[in-house]
Amino acid sequence: MSAPPDELNLTRNALTPGAQRSWWLREALAHETGPDCPALTEAINADVVIVGGGFTGLWTAYFLSEAKPDLGIVVLEQDICGGGPSGRNGGFASGWWDELDGLVTLYGAEAAVKACRAISDSISAIGQFCWTNGIGAWFKRSGYMYAITADAHERLCEEMVGLAAKVGAPDELRELTAAEVRARCASPAFRGGAFMRDGASVQPGLLVRGLRRVLLERGVTIHEGTRATGLEAGPPAVVSTPHGTVRAKSVVLALNAWATGWPQLERKLVAWSSYIVLTAPAPEQLTEIGWTGGELISDFRTSLRYFRTTRDGRIAFGGGGGRARRTIDDAFTHDTRAVMEAAQGFRLMFPTFADVPLEDAWGGPIDVSPTHLPVFGTLEPGNVFYALGYTGNGVAPTHLAGQVLADLVTGRDTDAVRLPLVNPKPRLFPPQPFRSWGAAVVRRAMIAKETAEEQGRRPNPLVDQLAKMPRRMGYLLGH
Ligand SMILES: Cc1cc2nc3c(=O)[nH]c(=O)nc-3n(C[C@H](O)[C@H](O)[C@H](O)COP(=O)(O)OP(=O)(O)OC[C@H]3O[C@@H](n4cnc5c(N)ncnc54)[C@H](O)[C@@H]3O)c2cc1C
Repeated sequence: MSAPPDELNLTRNALTPGAQRSWWLREALAHETGPDCPALTEAINADVVIVGGGFTGLWTAYFLSEAKPDLGIVVLEQDICGGGPSGRNGGFASGWWDELDGLVTLYGAEAAVKACRAISDSISAIGQFCWTNGIGAWFKRSGYMYAITADAHERLCEEMVGLAAKVGAPDELRELTAAEVRARCASPAFRGGAFMRDGASVQPGLLVRGLRRVLLERGVTIHEGTRATGLEAGPPAVVSTPHGTVRAKSVVLALNAWATGWPQLERKLVAWSSYIVLTAPAPEQLTEIGWTGGELISDFRTSLRYFRTTRDGRIAFGGGGGRARRTIDDAFTHDTRAVMEAAQGFRLMFPTFADVPLEDAWGGPIDVSPTHLPVFGTLEPGNVFYALGYTGNGVAPTHLAGQVLADLVTGRDTDAVRLPLVNPKPRLFPPQPFRSWGAAVVRRAMIAKETAEEQGRRPNPLVDQLAKMPRRMGYLLGH
């Protein structure tokens, strides 16, 4: 499946991803009047230094400042806060009931349900946080619809819904008939599906920049444009940057996919790219297909396609392509092929939008973990903490990560630190170069297999085998 850009109706802006920040972040920055956070240019001391100014780092700072208002907290961000995936994602703050398979396999039913309930609480708490702090980040709790787009997905849907019932949470995920799916969004590609009530949409750029504003008001020190180049764990730990250092008792590494460049963490993840295309406003076409309820929607592919509406009647449509890479380079921001793959998915699912141009596009790295679930943990000698591995589902889980990391730093024994995702048995990807080769080959095989299935073709047997490799090797990735 490949169509030239003019058939996909992509504007020049969409065909030059990475030339500008994400549409979300541009909107957030346009309305911002807050102070700058200049780069670090000296040696300073702190109680806690957090590397990474995305949701993980900022929620950690938030919960630390809640627990101990006098704590000296410094955040170092190489770009601007939210310049990474936190300001570029699809804005799905979604529940974990669709992750039950992995959670139950790894931790058992009871712990799995606890983890899902913790994410549900995080979704509510994000809404409450926006409300309390006057952050107009479009928080809207309309649920999450899964749409079946290939025969192979029928079984997956049934199993997913069946498992929620089996662990005693039948209300959290229920099956939808084809008619029920189309009543929510009438795409000709949808054949049935499921509805997860735990799902809220947010404008992620406004959320992450709002969080930054609240932290600055609380006295947290943030240095943007400041890349951490080295870490001596100490204690005390010293984080080096090009023009300064931070000496602190504790360090939090909130690095997302950039952790691939840190020896302490690199085998816990591989980096895959995901891209989003954005239509021009088309409220009438949305009304025509009945998609006016604000539901988050995705298909069942591993190379997930996910889509949502905006306040001004656009569709933001992500996924379906992308690649795996060894380092976080331009392939995660400037990949026109990945934009075209996302655009093809959009045109396939929404043919009545053929005349609506795709006005914007952007991409970013996804930190894929061996289990499809994040881990929150402690590194030697005990004063360095991290969270990573959200595997493309971090908007709500980073809120939980912030609580866990803050509790680990302050040594508090809470329900959050007793979750099984905290310091679990290590699961690692193979060492280099096998990790990068394997990730790249398997990623393309999964996309090819899923595209063939969607078109009613049998996948090439070699491609099929390659796509199944992660499961065979004990990783909880792919189908
Ligand atoms: C296109 C796309 C769509 C997505 N859609 C969704 C979605 O709809 N729902 C969902 O739940 N999840 C989604 N995700 C995933 C989600 O965005 C992430 O899981 C989440 O933002 C992770 O937050 P974080 O703070 O851990 O990472 P980030 O937001 O990446 O923050 C890490 C920060 O660390 C900084 N950094 C890295 N190295 C250094 C260094 N050495 N020194 C200083 N700073 C450093 C980076 O610049 C970055 O800002 C999507 C991701 C992408 C790319």
